[in-house]
Amino acid sequence: MSKLGSSDNPLKVAIVGAGPSGFYAADALINSELKVEINLLEKLCAPYGLVRSGVAPDHPLIKKSMEKFALMAEPDEFNYIGNVCVGKDITVDELKETHHAVIITMGAETDRKLGIPGEDIKGSHTATEFVAWYNGHPEYREREFDLSHETAVIIGQGNVAADVARILSKTIDELKFTDISQHALDVLENSKVKNIYIVGRRGPAQGAMTSKELKEFGQLWDCDTFVDPAETVLNKSSEDELSDRNGRVAKKIYELFCNYAEEKKPHTARQFPWTRPYIKPKKCHIQFLRSPVELKGNKKLEKIIFEKNTLSGDPFKQSAKGTGNKEELDAGILFRSIGYRGVPLDGVPFHDAWGVIPNEKGRVVENEVVVPQLYTAGWIKRGPSGIIGTNKACANETIAELLQDLENLDSKKKKLGLKKIYEILDNKKVRYINFIEWEVIDEQEIHNGKPKGKPREKFTYTDEMLAQLT
Ligand SMILES: Cc1cc2nc3c(=O)[nH]c(=O)nc-3n(C[C@H](O)[C@H](O)[C@H](O)COP(=O)(O)OP(=O)(O)OC[C@H]3O[C@@H](n4cnc5c(N)ncnc54)[C@H](O)[C@@H]3O)c2cc1C
Repeated sequence: MSKLGSSDNPLKVAIVGAGPSGFYAADALINSELKVEINLLEKLCAPYGLVRSGVAPDHPLIKKSMEKFALMAEPDEFNYIGNVCVGKDITVDELKETHHAVIITMGAETDRKLGIPGEDIKGSHTATEFVAWYNGHPEYREREFDLSHETAVIIGQGNVAADVARILSKTIDELKFTDISQHALDVLENSKVKNIYIVGRRGPAQGAMTSKELKEFGQLWDCDTFVDPAETVLNKSSEDELSDRNGRVAKKIYELFCNYAEEKKPHTARQFPWTRPYIKPKKCHIQFLRSPVELKGNKKLEKIIFEKNTLSGDPFKQSAKGTGNKEELDAGILFRSIGYRGVPLDGVPFHDAWGVIPNEKGRVVENEVVVPQLYTAGWIKRGPSGIIGTNKACANETIAELLQDLENLDSKKKKLGLKKIYEILDNKKVRYINFIEWEVIDEQEIHNGKPKGKPREKFTYTDEMLAQLT
């Protein structure tokens, strides 16, 4: 047989998950010097992972990166197989049998737990659920969020927490021209939420959101943002962190928190009469050094018990410890935003404590031994950190390792690739879609958004999407 990667014997690679890391991995292979066949499998009809179903609808420029990924789907070597859940519709072993290599890029789909009493009480949700729901992810379409209480609490102070808080704080007029799903807009329109708390276990010098996200809290039409001035007082280690060269970003964020701690003057009205002071009806409170220790309520969330924390340790190594001081907050809904974690996939090793696939530079390992043919990239490889672009370097690292393994991947046995995938799926009567079919759905979404002035109106049920293709 000709050399692997030649025209007669292309390198056939299956990629599991069509988020940024899946596309970047495909692109790196297609741009290598080898002849390749790339089969990108995605459990939803829609590609683009969290860019479509995670990134906040009011960040349209970031959503636009979907266009960049669509270009990566153009080469003939690229095949999209949407609406196929690996592990259910086709197994990893079947992919290994039919391809030289399999790259798992399935993201980090679930949340870390708080591990406190009452965590699962009605009204206590993960940020993941809420984000996926307002972004029209079909698996979360039927979730219900009761926004009838005036107080909502978000646990965690990263960018996802900021997104959730902003969506709760914004007016319908600020949201209605985004690609937020109509069902979410309808619920948000009737929201009674007026007080939004974003609560972190550490202090303002350890803020986890970016300055860009934090600044947006000063630009909300109907919501003012507050930080208690007493909470901006730093301990010695935190002061040292901010005066260190490595603390420059944290210092900028700390200063933004301090701006919100200044006394608020009434704003100039944004409506007639323009010059009258305007008190914004919603309030966003950013609070520090608190951990929830119990969620209480009769059948549904009514009260959150927090324990106040103190920081101890050397600069950059401080940890939050409970002081024993408790306080209560009445609230009707809570969102836990303390980090995503991956879910295991049959046939692939999994590091349960870290919620990732164990790997060395993208080569999957089990008990420190490399597992032949298996690779990984993106959030499931390195954990839920980094922006969209971070996944490019991550995927490139994986592909560099894969290309080094070429000799070992050459099994001397013909791999049937796409042809065999289709046969397996047809036998199981799975209705898979290709990229041209996705583009039909995509165009229809854009068309449906036009009369509303939205970039698109997403289909939120898989059946609705498939119905566009008949
Ligand atoms: C709420 C939120 C907001 C964000 N906002 C920004 C932002 O504003 N700017 C920015 O740069 N970054 C942002 N990010 C980060 C960015 O979205 C991630 O870095 C990136 O999406 C991770 O890419 P990934 O491919 O590893 O995973 P994902 O994007 O999660 O893609 C994984 C894909 O795998 C699919 N999949 C899962 N299981 C299977 C299976 N068994 N079979 C087939 N397919 C499967 C999923 O459906 C999904 O399409 C945000 C993240 C979140 C959570």
